[in-house]
Amino acid sequence: MKLYQALRHVDRFRSAFDFGGRDVAHWFPGHMAKGLKQMRANLKNVDCIIEIHDARIPLSGRNPVFQDTLNVKPHLLILNKMDLADLSKKRNILKALEKSGVKDILFTDCLKQTDSNVKKLMPMVIDIIERGPRFNREENTNYCLMVIGVPNVGKSSLINSLRRTHLKKGRASRVGGEPGITKAVLTRIQVCQRPIMYLLDTPGVLPPRIESVETGMKLALCGTILDHLVGEDVIADYLLFSLNRLGNFSYVEKYDLKEPSDDIQNVLKQIAVKLRKTQRVKALTGIGNITVTIPNYTAAAYDFIRAFRKGELGQVMLD
Ligand code: GDP
Repeated sequence: MKLYQALRHVDRFRSAFDFGGRDVAHWFPGHMAKGLKQMRANLKNVDCIIEIHDARIPLSGRNPVFQDTLNVKPHLLILNKMDLADLSKKRNILKALEKSGVKDILFTDCLKQTDSNVKKLMPMVIDIIERGPRFNREENTNYCLMVIGVPNVGKSSLINSLRRTHLKKGRASRVGGEPGITKAVLTRIQVCQRPIMYLLDTPGVLPPRIESVETGMKLALCGTILDHLVGEDVIADYLLFSLNRLGNFSYVEKYDLKEPSDDIQNVLKQIAVKLRKTQRVKALTGIGNITVTIPNYTAAAYDFIRAFRKGELGQVMLD
């Protein structure tokens, strides 16, 4: 173990993040509210809702507006991107979720070609539907599911993974790297033959619930809010704060730093130097215009955030 790893408890890092009175109201685009209306209209034909969320923030950012509706429908919570999440305290997470009324939970990794957990989804869904108070076998010859969740948590990837698993079919849903790419036209696609099960093809995109700036920052870090609305520099700083708080110093090795630091400018400078990300700027001096080369902080911030989202900085739990 590196010496600095033992420094986790030493009082050298910030114990709180300065959110600086940011206004989170503008952090998600307005068109999402329209999607919610459309989803509500389609709910009456749905037997089970599959809510999908990021496993790194199992308790933050899920949408309560929808939960009112969820209570009347059988509901399965998928915590996706489990490959990126530190699940060593999984038991506490499950307990906390159960306390808030969520009983059926499944962790998945939708990028894996065949995730054994995705295979468990159909049997779980059938069990949940048949357990439901309004289940009547005579009437129900086939089932319809709806996948919902905040942007970029893997809704399209889950739909594709289900089709791969059960129908040996390729992509039906476009997977986007930017939040909110899925468009709002609903079609039904079959995902299972026995029993016949359909899924509303276009996932329901929900605006995340941002109850505090901290929740907003966690959502931004996980890529559910467009980066530029929050600011790459702020996201990078919150990432550094989070990694230090968790005692995760993998960034030190990845970017060849001498030691952990709580100073984002210092860290970004070193990342920029390591990655040779520089920019030339004109400067006006006493002897005329000169061009100087300085570290490109934005490019460094972007690389730092990207590395985190790809899991290159290790698994984390932000809640
Ligand atoms: P949607 O906006 O909720 O439909 O999300 P997408 O399915 O478009 O996925 C968003 C991003 O997350 C894409 O870059 C996917 O490749 C990635 N992704 C989806 N599922 C997983 C997963 O289980 N693990 C990891 N590491 N990445 C995932």
